Amino acid sequence: MPYIREIIQDGHPTLRKVAKKVDPKEISDPLFQQLIDDMFETMYAAPGVGLAAPQVNVSKRFFVMDIQDDETEPAVVINPKIELAEEEIEMTEGCLSVPGYVGEIARFNHVAVSGLDRNGQKIRLEGRGLFAQCLQHEIDHLNGVLYIDRAQNLRKAETEEEQAIADAAQAQAY
Ligand code: ZN
Repeated sequence: MPYIREIIQDGHPTLRKVAKKVDPKEISDPLFQQLIDDMFETMYAAPGVGLAAPQVNVSKRFFVMDIQDDETEPAVVINPKIELAEEEIEMTEGCLSVPGYVGEIARFNHVAVSGLDRNGQKIRLEGRGLFAQCLQHEIDHLNGVLYIDRAQNLRKAETEEEQAIADAAQAQAY
């Protein structure tokens, strides 16, 4: 049974480490598979649209995401690599590890990422808007980077729209 793990917050040293690559042999380990299930459970409970392993205090290079629209499936990306990033725009963003805040950040609106899925198979994800934003945000976590490092106009979420972004960790992008 999956269980909800604690999401660590800004100030915790694990969020500032460069996470280690996952050994592909480790992926089939039941403990690793359990961790993936737990991360989905934790992300949905938050609720959020993406969660990186360092946010549950595991300094390894993978994340889960589900932006919950009709066209995209929930995904696990292990050892991700950005293959394409274009069309820089400004987006409003939040993070489950920095609850209650939002800010504007420059992101690429069109991104492709390669990596391994939870079966150790090669995958490539490509998308725009929130999907692209989420990929970049989660990969930043693997490099010890938080959006607040680069965000402009970081502020407490006040409007309903800002609160939705803060609560759901990048639930909206524009
Ligand atoms: Zn985050």
